Amino acid sequence: MVAYDVIIIGGGAAGASAFHHLAARGQRVLCLERETSPNATSSHHGLTRIIRLAYFEHPAYVPLLRRAYALWGELEAQAGTQLFHRTGILECGRPGEALVTGVTTSARQHDIAHRVLEAREVARAFPAFQLPGDFVGVHQADGGFLIPEASITAMVHLGRAAGGTFIERARVTAIEPRASHVEVVTADARYQAGRVIVAAGAWMPKLLPDLAHVLRPEKRVLGWFSPRDPSPFALGRFPVFLIQDDADYWYGFPLYGKPAFKIAHHQHGHIKVDADTLDRMDVTPADEAFIRPALSRFLPAADGAMVDHAVCIYTMTPDEHFVIDTWPQDDRVLVASPCSGHGFKFATVTGEILADLAMHGTTRHDISLFRLGRFAQ
Ligand SMILES: Cc1cc2nc3c(=O)[nH]c(=O)nc-3n(C[C@H](O)[C@H](O)[C@H](O)COP(=O)(O)OP(=O)(O)OC[C@H]3O[C@@H](n4cnc5c(N)ncnc54)[C@H](O)[C@@H]3O)c2cc1C
Repeated sequence: MVAYDVIIIGGGAAGASAFHHLAARGQRVLCLERETSPNATSSHHGLTRIIRLAYFEHPAYVPLLRRAYALWGELEAQAGTQLFHRTGILECGRPGEALVTGVTTSARQHDIAHRVLEAREVARAFPAFQLPGDFVGVHQADGGFLIPEASITAMVHLGRAAGGTFIERARVTAIEPRASHVEVVTADARYQAGRVIVAAGAWMPKLLPDLAHVLRPEKRVLGWFSPRDPSPFALGRFPVFLIQDDADYWYGFPLYGKPAFKIAHHQHGHIKVDADTLDRMDVTPADEAFIRPALSRFLPAADGAMVDHAVCIYTMTPDEHFVIDTWPQDDRVLVASPCSGHGFKFATVTGEILADLAMHGTTRHDISLFRLGRFAQ
């Protein structure tokens, strides 16, 4: 049996990044991925992921984001390819509601450049938007989008080039702690390591059933719509955006990768799914009905036919913050679930944190918000 310093289960956003960081630090690292990496059955496909600095969810994310931004720049330089499109971001809603309050609070607290635009100023700057008169748009020039598939490819490639071992189509079926090491089992083989990182996304509850009450896989649908006039949605003219209207949140992107406008509903009915049995071809009129109202209400020029879609999975925690911690049953096993629908932008810094934890048991980054203990009953 080959022994490793660290085995990573899952080669998606968090796992591929940890693989890259650990290999670059000279660790004997093995990453086992059940599918290909990247793939279109997990949480990281669909061509684009939003990145933003002032963070409405909690200001504590901002220091991590500053480091993530720096590491995205380093990754682009090492990979020799553009992974980040800095389009700016517009976050729209009513003053006093969670999105606008959260992003402006976060921006002020961390001194992040932003502008608050009235609805008519938004329409002048970005003619595709028709916001109600009581809405504002908070614009941050530092926002934009990442290309998730190319990012993961770059991380895996760089990790392999640094000496790491990455095996695709190797589904882990068991994690077996022993006195001197931890064993990781697939259908064909058994591996051992001093530390194991479980970064299995929507399959986390299957590998770690004791955490099933904390990590809930839910279906999400990305829709691509044919705009009546594509020009106001062009890359370079149109920003990435979030919109809050009462309890509903939508987000979307400029035209990129397909000749259609991509938009999704953040909550999408919170439909719980099993990652193995979810039918990823099954997009119903009910799925479209979550998304369509944002087009008719706020972006009428994009209110055309839905021409494409992708089914994706969010792994939700009860408070929608990440989980990055040791496994309560064995502290040689790390649990990494940076999801709840907003984890991709952190992938670079998540990999750094996981490498720190696997090698030293500690990290200089403040990850107290992500501890499992907050869910203790
Ligand atoms: C529709 C959608 C839109 C999103 N939009 C954004 C956004 O705009 N901005 C943003 O920052 N974030 C966004 N996210 C969230 C982001 O993509 C996720 O947070 C991120 O992909 C989670 O990374 P992960 O490594 O935990 O999971 P994944 O990227 O899903 O990786 C997990 C990997 O583990 C593998 N695996 C599972 N079980 C096993 C096993 N037993 N053995 C071996 N391998 C296994 C899987 O095949 C998969 O490749 C979005 C997510 C979705 C679904």
